[in-house]
Amino acid sequence: MSATMYYEADANPMLVGQRKVAVLGFGSQGHAHALNLKDSGIDVSVGLRPGSNRTQTAADAGLRVLTPADAAEWADLIMVLVPDQFQQGLYNEAIAPNLGEGDALFFAHGFNIHFGYVTPPQNVDVAMVAPKGPGHLVRRQYEAGSGVPALVAIHQDASGGAKDLALSYAHGIGATRAGVIETTFKAETETDLFGEQVILCGGVDEMIRAAFETLTDAGYEPEMAYFEVLHELKLIVDLLFEGGLPWMRYSVSDTAEYGDVTRGPRIVTEQTRETMREILGEIQSGQFAEEWMAEVAAGTPNLLAARRAVADHQIETVGKQLRDMMPFLVAKTPEDDQ
Ligand code: NAD
Ligand code: MG
Repeated sequence: MSATMYYEADANPMLVGQRKVAVLGFGSQGHAHALNLKDSGIDVSVGLRPGSNRTQTAADAGLRVLTPADAAEWADLIMVLVPDQFQQGLYNEAIAPNLGEGDALFFAHGFNIHFGYVTPPQNVDVAMVAPKGPGHLVRRQYEAGSGVPALVAIHQDASGGAKDLALSYAHGIGATRAGVIETTFKAETETDLFGEQVILCGGVDEMIRAAFETLTDAGYEPEMAYFEVLHELKLIVDLLFEGGLPWMRYSVSDTAEYGDVTRGPRIVTEQTRETMREILGEIQSGQFAEEWMAEVAAGTPNLLAARRAVADHQIETVGKQLRDMMPFLVAKTPEDDQ
């Protein structure tokens, strides 16, 4: 099975051009969608809670800012770009009362629709346009005349034109310049959660810490360990990104390549693969979603504790000093983004 791809010529920009689009949230994805759509000539409003610290930023960028409820009422296409854990509340309070026949409700991740936390009425289109990259890249690539690839999916096609509308929206944010893949809410949600848990965030994060601790426990300098297990990771990932496994293995030394093929399978073992299947099962059954929503309802105590623990870890205290000394690197902290 091979995925269907869509490009510029497959999209009709007029469809989203005839809509009034409300982008709810002005974070990573929200700012990129709102600004790209505006620059594509589309009538956009941003929906933000009164007092949100993003209101000024959005207004300064020349965007109309309304409350989420007013934006939803004004619009006939609503894109939900607040964090997944707040979408159900936002939907119940601000969106549902303002959804009318023929409106379209869009998401950039399938979590709430797929797991049933949001159930829109039958007379609206429900679609997903999910860029496969962080919002800052979605904006930067658009400004450079390019785009970030995206997934589109249709959950509910009330109008009969939901897919064309989704492709038109993807065109408006620049995604059809890079390529759009059609998928389902189920596949997007499950693969996205699996990727971030098993490799992109969970796997890599824990592997870095384990390798760092192994070196420092054995008496090596923490600065050496930092460069080896964290800093250099980017160089390897860049090679993988450019040319896959063959290019990475070609670019590293033969010694590194031999170590890779003989030691890699001892790190990621049959037991690791079994755990991956277990984690995939928890995602598919909805167990992970339930656990995460219960954590949110309790005020995210485990998430907050884990954030504090990582900030205090030696890899962070050493890493911060080292990053501050690398002038070519624009060191970033979560606080810079507030
Ligand atoms: P974010 O955390 O960067 O931004 C959230 C925005 O929502 C902020 O403007 C914030 O002020 C606002 N907000 C927070 N709580 C709110 C509430 N209770 N009511 C109203 N507004 C609230 O979020 P993000 O990373 O842009 O994620 C938005 C959506 O995009 C999610 O569904 C996410 O899965 C999806 N997505 C994100 C990325 C990414 O790289 N960040 C990539 C693809 C898809
Ligand atoms: Mg993802």
